[in-house]
Amino acid sequence: MISVYPLLIVLLAGLLSASLAGKAILHRRFRHPEGLRRLAVTITALLLIANVVAFSMDLQGHWQSAHLTATVAALTALVIPMVLWRVPITHASNARRVLAIGAHPDDIELACGGTLAKFVDSGHEVEVVVMSDGMRGGDGKARSEEALRGASYIGLIGLRHYRFADANLAAHGQEMIQVIEGALARFDPDIILTHSQHDSHQDHQAVHAATLRAARRHHSILCFESPSATREFDPSVFVDIEDYMEAKVQAVRMHADQKEKPYMAPERLRAVALFRGAQARRRVAEAYEPVRMLSSELGSFESQHSSYLERPNETYTSSSAS
Ligand SMILES: [Zn+2]
Repeated sequence: MISVYPLLIVLLAGLLSASLAGKAILHRRFRHPEGLRRLAVTITALLLIANVVAFSMDLQGHWQSAHLTATVAALTALVIPMVLWRVPITHASNARRVLAIGAHPDDIELACGGTLAKFVDSGHEVEVVVMSDGMRGGDGKARSEEALRGASYIGLIGLRHYRFADANLAAHGQEMIQVIEGALARFDPDIILTHSQHDSHQDHQAVHAATLRAARRHHSILCFESPSATREFDPSVFVDIEDYMEAKVQAVRMHADQKEKPYMAPERLRAVALFRGAQARRRVAEAYEPVRMLSSELGSFESQHSSYLERPNETYTSSSAS
């Protein structure tokens, strides 16, 4: 009888290396990616060792059957958490276009990475415009490449990356207005996301001002929360990112050039999301200040199973809120 062990050993070695390398894929598709990865690595490593030992001992008869059954059962058991923890894909009834405009290569992932990943998975088209390569705060070339990787990871349909002078975007106001007007004419977004006026970074303020000027006739503009947002940042629109927290953490990690910055730390990202989640009466959320928002656009982002844009106005008006 031909031994099945060589085949099993090759299969398990492949699964083990895929589990070790498949970090990004797991983060984008599963709720507890690190737990799942550790489980997959542990199970496949143990099975690999057990099968190498069984092959070397040349197990036969009942022993071989019992061993193979145990191997198949352990691999099947691994499928159960994969099914339970998979992020559900729910398609919105009406696909929309979202344009997010940021000053620096990592701004979008930091502020609204979870929201955009959720929108993409729901069938909405998302495009991003980045105004500078961030060379004053790091390696401009590396940061541009990281922005591309982040865009690909989230699943954006487009990333337009401009190289206006980092830390001096205010000097390029008119050029940025033209860029944004071009994006609006070409992409015709239903919702625009950009920096808040309540932001202490001069480049973020300049992008906010240019966006409002270029989108002066647009009906739906939301301002996202950057780490440099001031205490005046006062959101009233929230996106529940329960299934996308780890995707956001991973998208931010892709900006390795900036990894020493304290606001890039996963615990900081989770803390902000927990705080905004508490305000929205959800577990984790990303928060937005509306400049103006057409109610039909809010409704269009709802899927069959959940409402993406939460407006917990009662949080602020109810005296019973605690
Ligand atoms: Zn920035």
